[in-house]
Amino acid sequence: MKALAALFGPISPYNCAMPRVSALKVRVFGTCRLRFRYQYVDKLRARLRPADTAGSLVHRVLCDFFSKVPPAERNEETLAVLFEEGWTALSAGYHRIPGVEVHRSASLHQLANFARCFDLGAEPLMVEPYFQEEIAPGVTLFGRLDRIDEEADGTLHVIDYKGGAQPGEIDPQQLRIYALLAGRALKREVSRVSFWYLDDGTSWTTDLGARDGQRTLDDILATVREMDGVTAFPPTIGRHCGGCPYLYTCEVRDEIAARREREGW
Ligand code: SF4
Repeated sequence: MKALAALFGPISPYNCAMPRVSALKVRVFGTCRLRFRYQYVDKLRARLRPADTAGSLVHRVLCDFFSKVPPAERNEETLAVLFEEGWTALSAGYHRIPGVEVHRSASLHQLANFARCFDLGAEPLMVEPYFQEEIAPGVTLFGRLDRIDEEADGTLHVIDYKGGAQPGEIDPQQLRIYALLAGRALKREVSRVSFWYLDDGTSWTTDLGARDGQRTLDDILATVREMDGVTAFPPTIGRHCGGCPYLYTCEVRDEIAARREREGW
């Protein structure tokens, strides 16, 4: 605790535990402080949407596909079979949610895109590995990555699957944080990071330079310091509210509904 106090000064009453940070926590802190309070201070129950459950299933299917299915048997049909098995296993209650079938066909469409656009015979080094690493005295970075491939030169390539189509503007922060985490945990160089978009079968890739790791570490520690001192949690209303698992209880829900109506998102 002494090392922590030296790094961060007096511990905030809002955040008295040893800092544990993830790419999601950093993103939430940067997107909406009110969600940050609901999720990490008040620890309210998240309410996932059917789209989130379907998205998790697609991720699980891709994990099983590359870890359990031999390369010679991998094709679009196998992906669909794995998905249908998982879909059937979801609770009967889930299937009764109105409109949930839309997510079934959207997920199958994503998997068909995947089969069409990405290499099904690939042999990833790891799928869905979970890492946690102490990145500074008393500060732990943790997370589960979708996939790590090995490049021809022996360096690593971190890949994150995204539901949705490729947006016009891409924020690589999540990938940089994953690269730092994987590099530290595996003691290997991560030279490349990618988002693979499942709705349109496109990808976005960037190479990492020698200084990227230190820059990412500095950014994370600056954010952790800010989190530790935070005492105000104003809402930030925007499109992201549509995917917020705390919308059901958000204190500015009426204002969000009005903005949605007015701005058409
Ligand atoms: S619904 Fe929007 S304003 Fe409310 S907590 Fe979530 S992100 Fe913040």
